[in-house]
Amino acid sequence: MGRCVFCKIVAGELPASVVYEDARHLALMDLYPWRPGHVLVIPKAHSVRVRELDEDARARLFTLGARVADAVRASSIPCDDLHLAINDGPASNQSVPHVHLHVLPRTRGDLPRLLLSLATRPLIALRLLRPAPRATLDRQAAELRSALVFPS
Ligand SMILES: [Zn+2]
Repeated sequence: MGRCVFCKIVAGELPASVVYEDARHLALMDLYPWRPGHVLVIPKAHSVRVRELDEDARARLFTLGARVADAVRASSIPCDDLHLAINDGPASNQSVPHVHLHVLPRTRGDLPRLLLSLATRPLIALRLLRPAPRATLDRQAAELRSALVFPS
């Protein structure tokens, strides 16, 4: 079986708009954002489910996701609150079989738009849905990168 999309991104074989990278993690803009500013935080090592991560890896993933959420709140991306969410396995609508933490900005009253995004997800596989423009994703990634704060 071939490697998953995220493993190809980690290997540099597919492009991504990268918000953050270290030896063990990558944070990137979702190519088909449910809402503007949708970031995915992944461990670089391939695992499908959270139960395959040890407790330190789980803690690091969530801690990084929370920092990305802070960066979204500090950025110009519209955001009243956020989801920090993991679809843990294919039966939970996990779209790429590699653990990823969604950092999803929400604004008051945006539920119809979010539901429309979710309802049209199956069109991606049919190549009937266009990805977000790379220039937009790169601009958002750059802004979030500069807004990320790490404890000194
Ligand atoms: Zn993978």
